Amino acid sequence: MSNAVTYEEWSSISDTFPIGDKTKGARGLLEWAYRVYPEQQIVYASSFGAEAIVLIDLIYQVKPDAHIVFLDTDLHFPETYDVIQKIEERFPTLRIEKKKPELTLDEQREQFGSALWKRDPNKCCEIRKVIPLRETLTSKQAWISGLRREQSPTRANTEFINKDDKFKNIKLCPLIHWTWDEVWEYIKQKDLPYNQLHDQNYPSIGCFPCTQAVGADGDSRAGRWSGSGKTECGLHT
Ligand code: SF4
Repeated sequence: MSNAVTYEEWSSISDTFPIGDKTKGARGLLEWAYRVYPEQQIVYASSFGAEAIVLIDLIYQVKPDAHIVFLDTDLHFPETYDVIQKIEERFPTLRIEKKKPELTLDEQREQFGSALWKRDPNKCCEIRKVIPLRETLTSKQAWISGLRREQSPTRANTEFINKDDKFKNIKLCPLIHWTWDEVWEYIKQKDLPYNQLHDQNYPSIGCFPCTQAVGADGDSRAGRWSGSGKTECGLHT
């Protein structure tokens, strides 16, 4: 199959991946995607959260030298950089790129004032996440994301193969059918490294100014931009 696959062609086979296998269709989708797209046309944008650890392990089985991009906002927890290092050691052939924003934190402060994330988190996410990802995806026909339907109402209708109007390409989501418990069962069974903040009630981990621990009854994304009304960084909206 050529790499000039239209969304209609992709979506027509979206339902054909068997979800009864132990990866709930994830492995099949990844095998297919890495077969269809040349390696320079597909990238996994990873946050290195729990879902990412599962996806990285599955991707490594299919494409050991896969390109993975981490949006390094310069505002991540030390534990996040620590797990990236452990992943690099465990999966040494993966090509993990740490993509920085054009503006340093000092330059952002000079242009927009201090703590932009408090006053205008959408602008901050645009500068430090959305624009860098757009730069990465400009030359890509497809990107992979760890979204799960269970994560939030805004993600409940995510498909394996999604037309991405924001980045003008295809977004592949292999883990849509996975539950939080299944993610952790996989990580523990395979003894994979993971962000230690998950053990301190941080189910979803982003930049430290915008991430809090959640109570036992909090939903998995309740600790992100808590109290601001913001629920997504803008990569998936
Ligand atoms: Fe800025 Fe917070 Fe978005 Fe990180 S998550 S880019 S600190 S607003």
